[in-house]
Amino acid sequence: MIKPQPFTATVLSNEYIAKETRKTVFKIHSDFNIQFTTGQFFNITVPAKNPDEKMVMRAYSIASSSSRLPEFELCVKVVENGRGSGYIDEMQKGDEIKMMGPFGHFGKKDETKKTIMIATGTGIAPMKAICDELSENEFKNAGILIFGVSQHEYASYDEYFSTMSEKYENFEYKLYVSRPKEGFIGNAGRVTAWLENTTASDFKNAEVLICGNPAMVKEVKNILITDREMDKKDVIVEAY
Ligand SMILES: Cc1cc2nc3c(=O)[nH]c(=O)nc-3n(C[C@H](O)[C@H](O)[C@H](O)COP(=O)(O)OP(=O)(O)OC[C@H]3O[C@@H](n4cnc5c(N)ncnc54)[C@H](O)[C@@H]3O)c2cc1C
Repeated sequence: MIKPQPFTATVLSNEYIAKETRKTVFKIHSDFNIQFTTGQFFNITVPAKNPDEKMVMRAYSIASSSSRLPEFELCVKVVENGRGSGYIDEMQKGDEIKMMGPFGHFGKKDETKKTIMIATGTGIAPMKAICDELSENEFKNAGILIFGVSQHEYASYDEYFSTMSEKYENFEYKLYVSRPKEGFIGNAGRVTAWLENTTASDFKNAEVLICGNPAMVKEVKNILITDREMDKKDVIVEAY
């Protein structure tokens, strides 16, 4: 277990990679020695903008693997009037930010097992980190990423994962769009549509990582344990 510590980081870049979603790359100052295990999150400190406001903390999953340290990236959905996401949205190259971490237990537990990742929305952030790490080992054990969004333009890292799946035979990427626009070509439906076409044998010797909105996480976990006979310890979840 890595002990969480406060640290300071500088923004290297801050760009939109999907509708209302930022990819922000940071570099940790050299006077801090921060480590994390892939899948964990950092808390950011959001300063008060005026005397009526209090400083607040917000959690963001680290969207890159630990091998990229002292650089790391976050993937943040900018929500209306959001204190934390609004603060990230306004960050410029060179800005400094105070953070704390790492925190959390999300991530792969058994390196020998196939990795099945199911994410919705910005639940993709820790999966991006895990995919980066698995690709560093050329997906020695197979990886499958099932990603659900409401509309295609919300699919962060879509091209990145498509290119990864072309490069590595052992990595499969499937995007599901629940409210597709007219003319959309691809998988229409929720991530549970993918599950409908699976059987218990698809989950043998696999661990499933699920991250996204709490209702999806609960529903998928329940299907895996009750209908696909998965062991609870092989279903690893993070909900937000
Ligand atoms: C362990 C963990 C990891 C997380 N990782 C990420 C991550 O990688 N990327 C990420 O974007 N978020 C992540 N979150 C969520 C994040 O911590 C914030 O809750 C989120 O950014 C909203 O905070 P805010 O300060 O911007 O909005 P707030 O100031 O808290 O809320 C402002 C308004 O926005 C509404 N709102 C809050 N969240 C949403 C939403 N998702 N969609 C629409 N409206 C919303 C609120 O109800 C409120 O009305 C994570 C949360 C946890 C617990």
